Amino acid sequence: MAGKKIMLTGDRPSGRLHIGHYVGSLAQRLELQDDPDFEKVFVMLADAQALTDNFDDPEKVRESVFQVAIDYLSVGLDPAKTNMFIQSEVPQLHELTVYYMNLVTVARAQRNPTIKTEIQLRGFGESVPMGFLNYPISQASDITFCKATTVPVGEDQEPLLEQCREIVRRFNYIYGEDVLIEPEIYLSKKEVCRRLPGTDGQAKMSKSLGNTIYLSDSEEELKTKVMSMYTDPGHLRVEDPGKVEGNTVFTYLECFCKDEDFEKYLPEYKNLEEMKDHYRRGGLGDVKCKKFLFNVLNDFLTPIRERRAYYEAHPEEVVEVLIQGTKEARKAAEETLAEVKKAMRIDYFKQWNTQYGTENVDSYC
Ligand code: ATP
Ligand code: MG
Repeated sequence: MAGKKIMLTGDRPSGRLHIGHYVGSLAQRLELQDDPDFEKVFVMLADAQALTDNFDDPEKVRESVFQVAIDYLSVGLDPAKTNMFIQSEVPQLHELTVYYMNLVTVARAQRNPTIKTEIQLRGFGESVPMGFLNYPISQASDITFCKATTVPVGEDQEPLLEQCREIVRRFNYIYGEDVLIEPEIYLSKKEVCRRLPGTDGQAKMSKSLGNTIYLSDSEEELKTKVMSMYTDPGHLRVEDPGKVEGNTVFTYLECFCKDEDFEKYLPEYKNLEEMKDHYRRGGLGDVKCKKFLFNVLNDFLTPIRERRAYYEAHPEEVVEVLIQGTKEARKAAEETLAEVKKAMRIDYFKQWNTQYGTENVDSYC
């Protein structure tokens, strides 16, 4: 029997998806779409959110919507289980945002740690677009429209989930009904996967920082990126003892390699622990480690690339998936919006119809 939980998450179509997205969120989506406790699963292409800091480049957002949809299908999100939809095609989300905006102070919006970091990263200074400052509120609409219980995301999203939970509590408190559901964050069980560092060793692999390995990278692109990755700057000669903590090659291996990979590519070690011990002792060179990582990642990306090639050749199937998913999202959003308006007592025609038996009201409700 189908369960009662609902999953919602999404991505900003500001570029293609990378392996950080995979370990931080996509892997958890794949797990939950097969979990019988989940009644509905939604994945959103957050184009309106991407426009808050890319409003001068709508073409990039437009192109990325399609590319990210192909990324979804390539990693195995299944349209029979997951509704994939486009944010701006569900106008009810914007309506919800208008009402939620009253529940958040400007000071609270400016204090959000994720927003603060992102404003700095984008060099906005004092010129933060209003829409950008407001996106956590709009994200609360994206989460609550379908009464999501579970949001699989990376840990940078924690303050945004907290903002959403505050809005839900305030809404339910003021308008006196348990209309909205407080969502829970769903993080990767492996801590290293919650914020995968970039190939340059920076704290987060991010489209905006250009330190990514894309799910769509070719074998050659992957090789070039892996071979020039950040390791331990103190590990100069092969015989030097090396550090594995903060060494991005080992962080990626932590996330992606399996014991079988050793059998196939590095049979002198049984598992990652043995390899790490050797690196720490000295005598294991970076080039060997990187070649192993390349093989591991290449095996991971090969089937994803194959499915991508299929969808690139069948774009009409991608459009169909998005149409179906968007229809489902609209249906859920209409229902929630009606409940929100009822709770706020601004469902005028419905109320008046009951009160006064007014004619021709049904067509408006
Ligand atoms: P941008 O730089 O444009 O914000 P992004 O790479 O941060 O792009 P988002 O679309 O903002 O990507 O994030 C989508 C999802 O992927 C979120 O759940 C986010 O937490 C997760 N995510 C993004 N980057 C990483 C990462 N390096 N490690 C783990 N999870 C990540
Ligand atoms: Mg981001």
